[in-house]
Amino acid sequence: VIECKDLHKSFHDLEVLKGVTTTLYEGDVVSVIGPSGCGKTTFLRCLNRLESINKGRLEVMGIDISHAQVTQETLRELRSRVGMVFQHFNLFPHLTVLKNLMLAPMKVLKESESECRERAIHYLEKVGLGEKASFYPEQLSGGQKQRVAIARSLCMKPSVLLFDEPTSALDPELVGEVLSVMKQLAQEGMTMVVVTHEMQFAREVSNKVLFFHQGIIEESGDPQALFTQPKSDRLKSFLSRIG
Ligand code: ATP
Repeated sequence: VIECKDLHKSFHDLEVLKGVTTTLYEGDVVSVIGPSGCGKTTFLRCLNRLESINKGRLEVMGIDISHAQVTQETLRELRSRVGMVFQHFNLFPHLTVLKNLMLAPMKVLKESESECRERAIHYLEKVGLGEKASFYPEQLSGGQKQRVAIARSLCMKPSVLLFDEPTSALDPELVGEVLSVMKQLAQEGMTMVVVTHEMQFAREVSNKVLFFHQGIIEESGDPQALFTQPKSDRLKSFLSRIG
């Protein structure tokens, strides 16, 4: 579902991605790990074209987004298939939880209000927040907000879900409830790419880990092998630093 070849991305004269090559398949649960500033978030943002790439080839769900210019039509198609969950939730503060969930399916997918409402309630219940439909985001805890954000993404029926450090803005006691929703999605076969500092998630839930270092994938593979028998010295030292 994601084909990425020699991807380069710069911000002015700072080259952040320096030739990233990887192929991800349907049903993959991929953890992207690595030291701060190595380009993990930038890589994720390229995947749904929040950033354009400078060089290389990038195809997501069969949609080629390698070029400097892509049409609005391509962008709409991409965004309807690729969902994104952000570190800071990005909920609309002036809308209730239910309306937050219904907005994009109504506007983008042009589905009926009743259908969107039904699906919104379904996914709210799935993340354990059925009773919060009429609340506003500010009335929720961080963990609840993030679960709403996940439900909102699911309402768009995405083929792939991207997560950008979904638990790093949360108090430690709220991390577990979000990870358990993500774990459930993974078990149900959702294709997911997760930038994370949660090594336990990377180890236990994902089937593939990409270790980024200074803008390239330094090492990748099966989490068990990667965590127990790291090959590169950089990964060894990263793992020893984070304990
Ligand atoms: P962290 O774990 O700290 O979030 P990261 O690996 O996700 O780090 P990125 O957020 O991808 O790293 O950032 C990589 C580098 O690119 C950093 O040096 C950052 O300052 C720079 N950068 C990111 N976005 C922009 C931007 N829009 N404009 C200029 N520089 C940027």
